[in-house]
This record gives sequence, C-alpha cells and structure tokens, in this order.
Amino acid sequence: MVDIRDVHKSFGPLHVLKGVDLTVRTGEVTVVLGPSGSGKSTLLRTVNHLEKVDRGLISVDGDLIGYRRSGDRLRELPEREVLRQRTRIGFVFQDFHLFPHLTVLENITEAPVSALKRPRREAVDTARRLLERVGLADRAGAFPRQLSGGQQQRVAIARALALEPRLLLFDEPTSALDPELVGEVLDVIGDLARQGTTMIVVTHETGFAREVADTVVFMDDGRIVEQGPPGDVLDRPRHERTRAFLSRVL
Ligand code: ATP
Ligand code: MG
Repeated sequence: MVDIRDVHKSFGPLHVLKGVDLTVRTGEVTVVLGPSGSGKSTLLRTVNHLEKVDRGLISVDGDLIGYRRSGDRLRELPEREVLRQRTRIGFVFQDFHLFPHLTVLENITEAPVSALKRPRREAVDTARRLLERVGLADRAGAFPRQLSGGQQQRVAIARALALEPRLLLFDEPTSALDPELVGEVLDVIGDLARQGTTMIVVTHETGFAREVADTVVFMDDGRIVEQGPPGDVLDRPRHERTRAFLSRVL
C-alpha cells in the first residue's frame, strides 16, 4: 500500500504541492489527471524521493520513503538506503530514458546485475521472459534508436519490472508517442494491472482510466480536488474545475 499524507513541496517561492493525501491499495491502479503545472510529476517524484518533501510523509508497504523514525524524530536515510528503496519502485518516464549505447537486453539486465548483484545468467533469463511479456522477444539485440517509440517504452517497462518493483509509477507514458503507438503501450500497462501490479499512472488517456483504474484522481493547483471510481470522476464530476478540465481533454 502507498500512503501519502499531507505532502507539501515548494521550489523557491513556488508552492507546488499544497497538502496532498492519497492512498493506493496493494494491487490497485490510480490514474492521476490534471492540467499542466498542477503538480502531477512532482507528486510522482516525491514517491521515490527524487524530490524531497517539505512536509508530510510517504510510505510504501509500511516503509517510510527517505526517512526512518528515531524515537519521535525523523532522520533522513543515507543515500545508499534511498537508492535501495528506489530500486523497488519502478519509474517509467514520458521520454523512455533508455541507455542509448546499450542493447535492449543490456538495458534490462544492467540494474539487476549492478544494483541487485544478480548473477548475469539469471538476469538475462529474466530479461528474456520480460521481453516476451511486452511482445519484444525478437528485439533483444537491438539498440534503442532502432526501435519505434512504442517499442522503446515497452523496453522501459520491462526494465522497470526487472527490479521486481512493489510499485510502478508512470509519468505520461504515452504522450511522446505517435497516436498509432499509444495502444500497444497501454495494452502492456493494462496487462500489468490485471496481474495485480500496484501502479500510479499520470495520463490523460481517459479510455484507459475507465477500463483499468480503480481510482481516478483529479489534481489542480497542487491539491487533489476530486477522487473516486472512474465512472464517478469522469462521468459525474462534482467539482466545476474537474468538469472544465474534462471538457477540454475528452
Ligand atoms: P505537466 O502536465 O505539464 O507535466 P505537472 O502537473 O506534471 O505538469 P509539475 O511538473 O509537477 O506539473 O510542475 C508543477 C510546477 O512546479 C510547475 O510550475 C513547474 O514549473 C514547477 N517545477 C517543477 N519542478 C521544478 C524544479 N525542479 N524547479 C523549479 N520549479 C519546478
Ligand atoms: Mg508532468
């Protein structure tokens, strides 16, 4: 379970997250929608401590992210511990972030071998299985530049899965793709959802949200304005700001 409590974040004078509370139960999918600049990416980045929160707490499966309790004080975790936490939280970016000089297979085995100290042969077996799962079994030896955007994103998903994450975060995973490639990536994410992967997905693909999300969250100006089952938030929004936003994206 992911538990986000009263999270605040500012960049200098800019107050970007203004007290966000969100719970994602294990095996559930939360889709986050909201206008540009509302704080969606910042929120995702706080969950794996790429951004430090100014106030509030985040825990994943009971582990505080970035901190440990010491009596009734909180102490920052050493970098090594933060990195260890981060390996169990997969992050898939809009623009894939693959290593351009590594093959598809090497992209997927790199972290398991170097960070988790898995034997190379085991990492390769896992990578091949994951490539099959995302429909790219025949592209193991290709370099990222030889793949379409949709294929690159599916490699990025396989790479995240190779670390056996307890949570996957997606930041607009299809918004850099040509329209005809969006479906193949959403299908892979939908399959993961059906297999019970816990996920937070920032996307404006409302069709996907309707089909896959357990909860849809609408963020505006650093706050969660509305959340609930997709049918409620997308079809019967209670807040004017949600209605106005949906009328623009639908
Ligand atoms: P988009 O839909 O455009 O991706 P978003 O909802 O993901 O928007 P964020 O990227 O979280 O929004 O940004 C929220 C605000 O915080 C924006 O005003 C942005 O300029 C600002 N911001 C984000 N990261 C930083 C940073 N590292 N330094 C300064 N300002 C930042
Ligand atoms: Mg963003």
